[in-house]
Amino acid sequence: MSIQQNLIHIKSTIPKHVTLVTVSKTKPVADLTQAYDAGQRIFGENKIQEMVEKYEAMPKDIKWHMIGHVQSNKVKYMAPFVSLIHGVDNFKLLKEINKQAKKHDRIIDCLLQIKIASEESKFGMLPTEASDLLQSKAFSELKNIQIVGVMGMATFTENENQIKKEFTLLKTTFDALKLHKSFNFKPETISMGMSGDYALAIECGSTMIRVGSSIFGSRIKN
Ligand SMILES: *Cc1c(COP(=O)(O)O)cnc(C)c1O
Repeated sequence: MSIQQNLIHIKSTIPKHVTLVTVSKTKPVADLTQAYDAGQRIFGENKIQEMVEKYEAMPKDIKWHMIGHVQSNKVKYMAPFVSLIHGVDNFKLLKEINKQAKKHDRIIDCLLQIKIASEESKFGMLPTEASDLLQSKAFSELKNIQIVGVMGMATFTENENQIKKEFTLLKTTFDALKLHKSFNFKPETISMGMSGDYALAIECGSTMIRVGSSIFGSRIKN
C-alpha cells in the first residue's frame, strides 16, 4: 500500500480523541511530502539535526515532535520551532529547554518520559521521580515550558500481557500525577503505542500514538 493508503487506513481505525504522530525518522523528504499531501501535519523525529533539516525543507504548518532521547547541548537547535518534546526524563534537561524557549519568547510543551519497560536500556523517570519533580519549587519557577503529559515505551517483546501491564502502569501513573497542581502542568496527553502495539495502547488509555513503519515501511536503521 502507498503512504497515503496506509495513513488513511490507520486514521480510520483510531478513535477521534487519539492523535497520530507520523514517525518519519530516517525517511527522505519525498516520503514526508506524500504524507503531508495526504493531510498529515504532525511528524515525529528522533534526531535533532535530522528534524532541523526536514523542518527547513518542509511547509511551515507542520508540527514537529521530538520523540527521541534529547541531549541538553542540542536543545538550542530545535527551540525555535519544536512543537512537543516527548522524551524529557530529568530536571536538568527541562531547565535547558526552558532557557532556550525563553530566548525565543516561547513556551515549549513537553512530556515526562516514564520508564515502564523492564529493559535497562530504555530511558525514563520512575513515577515517584516524576511526582517529586512536579511538586518541586524549582519546577514551579520554569515559565517557558509546560508539561502536558507523559510518554512511555513498552518492552520489545511478543508477550502481549507484559506490554499491557506496562501501558496500564503509564496510565495509572498519569492519573496519579494529574492530581498535582502547577501553572505549568496541564496533563492531557498519554503518548504510548507504536506500529506493533498502538491498538493495545489505545485500549489501555493512550491519547497519542507514534507510528512509523506501518506508514512508511520498514527502516534500514533506527
Ligand atoms: C521509531 C520510534 C517509533 C515508531 O516506531 P514504529 O515501530 O516504526 O512505528 C515510536 N516511538 C519512538 C520513541 C521511536 O523511536
